[in-house]
Amino acid sequence: MTPTFRDLSLSAELIQVVTELGFVRPTPVQAQAIPLLLKGKDVIGQSQTGSGKTAAFTLPILEKIDLTGRQLQALVLCPTRELCSQVAREIRKLGRRHPGLQVLVVSGGMPIGPQLGSLDKGVHIVVGTPGRVLDHLLRESLELGEITTLVLDEADRMLEMGFQEDMEKIISRTPANRQTVLFSATFPKTIEALSKSYQRAPARITIQEETQTVSSTRQVIYEVDPLERMKALLWLIDQNKPESVIVFCNFKTSVTELSRQLKEAGASVGALHGDLEQRDRDRIMAKFRNKSTKILIATDVAARGIDIPNLDLVVNFELPAQPEIYVHRVGRTGRAGQKGFAVSFYSSRETSKLKAIESFAGISLQRKTATVLQSTDVAKLQGKIQGDAAMRTLFISGGRKEKMRPGDILGALTGEAGGLKGTDIGKIEIHDHFSYVAVAFPVAQLALERLRNGRIKGRKFRIEPVK
Ligand code: ADP
Ligand code: MG
Repeated sequence: MTPTFRDLSLSAELIQVVTELGFVRPTPVQAQAIPLLLKGKDVIGQSQTGSGKTAAFTLPILEKIDLTGRQLQALVLCPTRELCSQVAREIRKLGRRHPGLQVLVVSGGMPIGPQLGSLDKGVHIVVGTPGRVLDHLLRESLELGEITTLVLDEADRMLEMGFQEDMEKIISRTPANRQTVLFSATFPKTIEALSKSYQRAPARITIQEETQTVSSTRQVIYEVDPLERMKALLWLIDQNKPESVIVFCNFKTSVTELSRQLKEAGASVGALHGDLEQRDRDRIMAKFRNKSTKILIATDVAARGIDIPNLDLVVNFELPAQPEIYVHRVGRTGRAGQKGFAVSFYSSRETSKLKAIESFAGISLQRKTATVLQSTDVAKLQGKIQGDAAMRTLFISGGRKEKMRPGDILGALTGEAGGLKGTDIGKIEIHDHFSYVAVAFPVAQLALERLRNGRIKGRKFRIEPVK
């Protein structure tokens, strides 16, 4: 029998929070890691994306946190700014019954000034990228001498990105008796070495569920000539009517080219690759999460670790070079017991790649023929997928620092002044200095006018539709 959160000796407060968040049971990595971490043990863990690693390390941190002062107690290192803000968002959600909890994101690509201000006032948890955290250590704006927990999240990725030296310098500034939690998708020698140098008798947790998820996902492959793939993709989307779909490409150039073509066809598309400005990445991800964008086209690097719940469909526009990557991509659909669906395109000369994937994942892929390729013409398909997103995103020029809360925005839209129905309002994301709210497509224009003519928290904000 799988344990419940009650079995994990968490406080009533945190059990209440996870219940409010709709977590029914701990995920396997949570069930294993939480009791160990509560006992103060070091943990080295591996489990697939989307398996709840953030709550696995956050709940024990929250259990022990002291909010009487503003002493920094935990540092979480993540490889990218997106992951930092995602982890911080999850910590804030889980910390909703810890009044006064201060969580700060310290990552590159953002101005350093506001970070200096917040650090000066004091925070309880810092989530940051190694580069920027080290910057702060060198400026002496950050002091790690009293932390009790250090988390290295996606440690293999941090090493791949060349952060080893920065990480070592950071760790050397933390107390020797700290608790160290290390999560990694893979365990190459470099990770083993990192663990050996910086962890004390770590408990190892390995959750082998990736292949299970993958085998419960319906997986179909189509032999499609690269020149016909755009048409085949339009057809797939028209056939399956997914709310959210990720299309994986192997190269940045394929991502840009495909997104250009789909945009021309009138589809609602976001493109994610390594060369984008952080602000653009954040905007693209927010729109995809809140269903203002239906199709996200991404490279593996850009999509790695990003939390996107409930994908109806994953498409491999190109077969990845390594079977592990196939399993990673496909693992993004069919989570949490939902039925997943993955489609891959391949060329006849890629049969050895296919065989490698089948033997690695222990599955046999269902080969099908895309009938569309002989018959339907693209023009007709293009018409069908136009203007297809369920929601639109509005930008509001006030965020956490202006004390904006989701309830303020919801109130302005639905109250007497707003007049919209609660069901027309989707996800609300509060960032430091701005917020995004998703509204149902048919009432988006109305919502824009209401917000522009009205006030939020008694104040005027700039409101813009997000392109
Ligand atoms: P990982 O770091 O392993 O990739 P995350 O920590 O980002 O995964 O979690 C993925 C999603 O699952 C998040 O939206 C999180 O809120 C949700 N989640 C975490 N734990 C549970 C749970 N026990 N039950 C349901 N959802 C959960
Ligand atoms: Mg994670």
